[in-house]
Amino acid sequence: MINSSITEIKKRLAKKEINATELTKACLEQINKTDDTLGAFINLYPEEALKKAQELDQKGYNPDQALWGIPVSVKDALATKNMRTTAGSKILETFTPPYSAYVVEELEKAGAIILGKNNMDEFAMGSTCENSAYKKGSNPWNTDCVAGGSSGGSAISVASCQCFASLGTDTGGSIRQPASLCGIVGLKPTYGRVSRYGLLAYASSLDQIGPFARTVEDTALMLSVIAGHDERDSTSSPRAKEDFTKYFENPQKDLQGITIGLPKEFFENKAMDNEVAKLCQQTIEEAQKIGAKVKEVSMPNLAYSIASYYIIASAEASSNLARYDGIRYGHRTNQPKDLDELYRMSRTEGFGEEVQRRILLGTYVLSAGYYDAYYKKAAQVRRLIREDYENALKECDVLLAPVSPIVAWKKGSVTDPLQMYQMDIFTLSLNLSGLPGLSIPVGMAHNMPVGMQIFGSAFDEAKLFQVGHSLVEHLGTNNQYKL
Ligand code: GLN
Repeated sequence: MINSSITEIKKRLAKKEINATELTKACLEQINKTDDTLGAFINLYPEEALKKAQELDQKGYNPDQALWGIPVSVKDALATKNMRTTAGSKILETFTPPYSAYVVEELEKAGAIILGKNNMDEFAMGSTCENSAYKKGSNPWNTDCVAGGSSGGSAISVASCQCFASLGTDTGGSIRQPASLCGIVGLKPTYGRVSRYGLLAYASSLDQIGPFARTVEDTALMLSVIAGHDERDSTSSPRAKEDFTKYFENPQKDLQGITIGLPKEFFENKAMDNEVAKLCQQTIEEAQKIGAKVKEVSMPNLAYSIASYYIIASAEASSNLARYDGIRYGHRTNQPKDLDELYRMSRTEGFGEEVQRRILLGTYVLSAGYYDAYYKKAAQVRRLIREDYENALKECDVLLAPVSPIVAWKKGSVTDPLQMYQMDIFTLSLNLSGLPGLSIPVGMAHNMPVGMQIFGSAFDEAKLFQVGHSLVEHLGTNNQYKL
């Protein structure tokens, strides 16, 4: 039961073969059984979840609520009223927000049951879920390996059937990469598609909230719930909500009429593992077998995405994180001798090493003497990268590329920060462009899951779902984790 898709389980809820309480209990049991090893949750709210499930059961199944009775989880970077929200950081260890993020409100309106808050790299800075101040996340397919990050906890909870779907955030790959390393589906929506009201910001010009699920259809359902205009986020697009699930009533089986662009700089990358590369090649051949035309395209500025991203993201982070000052909320140092020391010690004690590194880097690149040399250049490169995407998409419907050059690696094996940043080579550029990307599972290499990502034009998530669905159905990689 807990390994079915939302689409399947909804049919059973509607027929009253099971109820919301039974479903919630089953998920909580799976969490109890597995989470000591997996580390998907920082905070769990079992009593509240069961209470909500009982209330729903008393009222009875409501077909107008798209997620009626469905247990889900959310990344701990999203504000949840009356649920502790730490962003994976000690500095927010005691923070319980008095309000919920827009996306959390939307989940609740849709009748979803939020089980708890997912583990993450501190303030979403990381690629493995090892930078959490609370615990390390582990990959359900091999617990010696990383789950990916920063939304590692969200990906783990969905992959290991602790819940049916989850929300994460993607600033430079944090949804697509853990989805890929854990063998599930993850979407970074178009910038502006989903309101960030109530998101504890990392880098505001890059951050997007998006869903994880085990099938493409479930991912489309989640986006239908969380998208929509919200005036409390000034970057929220005025577009109304769309029902992305309509397409699945009669989905196209093949890829006739679709042209897929293959950006050669992704496939020629030297960091690519051979087995992963082989699987990507096979996936392209399978896409052709079901009717897709493929075309090589070029994105010459891809190589500069790491430098550009880490300058821009750190600059924005240094500004966003200035609000954690030990005065307004979160950790405050004991008995500082003056105000200066209060700021300094609260932040020194509250922030982890990676966060401090980025604040230092960010304030440096923004400082008067260096702004033109670093930040301004990075912003110019960003524009070129966006143009690369736009040019490539002029010739094709979507682009297809690997997500991670290698499968999930051993925990603790990458300790050099620069080496870690290199791992993001395939995901960072998309956020610099603002365009949407869907990560889908395409098979296994070295006994671990491999994902590929589909990029599309702004607000064309529907096309990503269409192509993603045909591919996973054909490859047989939808909902593949065996309990
Ligand atoms: N790994 C990247 C970083 O550390 C991306 C993280 C993210 O998308 N939140 O910044």
